[in-house]
Amino acid sequence: MGWGDCGTDSQGRPIGYVHPATCDHPGCNEQIDRGLSYVCGDMHGEDEVSCEKYFCSKHRPHTVFHQESRGEYLSVCDECAADLLNSGDWIEDEMEGVIKPADPIEVSHV
Ligand SMILES: [Zn+2]
Ligand SMILES: [Zn+2]
Repeated sequence: MGWGDCGTDSQGRPIGYVHPATCDHPGCNEQIDRGLSYVCGDMHGEDEVSCEKYFCSKHRPHTVFHQESRGEYLSVCDECAADLLNSGDWIEDEMEGVIKPADPIEVSHV
């Protein structure tokens, strides 16, 4: 359906689930592919809450509630989770175990 081979990312790496890869976490050699099952977030880096890297399930340990994305709940890597929380626009909801907008009403693309 056109998703198997998605071209290349900004670093010239082939992306899409037909491309085998290893986890982008430093030192992790887990075999993955560069498809949507392993991407940080779910848009190959095209949303504002994730990067364009690919991780095994162990290295995308954070869940972000992102209303604008298809799945709403995204898995992101440590780095993205830290960036979101540092920005002050996102907070960690420890009850739900998700990262969500600090002010849900003000979710907008500026
Ligand atoms: Zn990330
Ligand atoms: Zn990994």
